[in-house]
Amino acid sequence: MMKWLEHQRILYTLSHNPIPHEMWEELMQKAGIFRGLSAVERAHLRELTTLFLLRKDLCGVQGLILTMEMALTLAAQACLPILMLGLDYYDGWVEVVIYPGAFRVERDSTDAMGLVSHQDRILSGESWSRGPVILSWDNVASDLAAPHSGHNVVVHEFAHKLDMLNGNANGMPPLHPHMEVKQWTKAFSGAFGQLQQQLAHHHHPSINPYGATSPAEFFAVASEYFFTDPHTLQLHYPAVYEQLLLFYIQNPASRQSGLKVPNLTE
Ligand SMILES: [Zn+2]
Repeated sequence: MMKWLEHQRILYTLSHNPIPHEMWEELMQKAGIFRGLSAVERAHLRELTTLFLLRKDLCGVQGLILTMEMALTLAAQACLPILMLGLDYYDGWVEVVIYPGAFRVERDSTDAMGLVSHQDRILSGESWSRGPVILSWDNVASDLAAPHSGHNVVVHEFAHKLDMLNGNANGMPPLHPHMEVKQWTKAFSGAFGQLQQQLAHHHHPSINPYGATSPAEFFAVASEYFFTDPHTLQLHYPAVYEQLLLFYIQNPASRQSGLKVPNLTE
């Protein structure tokens, strides 16, 4: 009964708060990250995006006026990783804060040893456990203008959100029942070690060296590649690509090649 009521509520919401058709179509055309999605997947993404905009509180700060188009651009990208997972994966928090440009963060932090350090950094995005996602609009816009480069600050920060579903960000989100922790760990620790080795030996890194910062950053960076430059990730870290395919239940390399997406929901 509750499920039926919830379903009716969702249908009512979708029919009363539609995203303007032309605005949606324009976004699907101009943003490379959505390339290759089938008509059914796009329709599903549109539903998720509508619900995301209704459930989350998007808020511009430092004078940033958030237009419907901007909110839509951000929300649709945030919903792409959870296309097959569902909006429940973003439960437990509501706020998305958007700065006009890169923002400065100054704070004291305490590590596991109890050592307090002062951080003063310029960031393009940040994700808090059970708290807001913070983004710089400048970076969101530039990722959209230059897709397939392995950079997408929206995917990056929302990947951290998925990672934090099962505690601190450690590079492993809650895996599906048919996945194996052992396989995930083997794929990710191997790739993480390789990237660190490349940097230690001053070799050209296979992916954004920021991924070598920590396992959590590696997962977020690998997710950026998975959705924006899947062939690069598949080429250098096929085992990581395979695990992300199982986790996100999507195959961007296949759909961006114009090939038929295999049935992954076994
Ligand atoms: Zn990060």
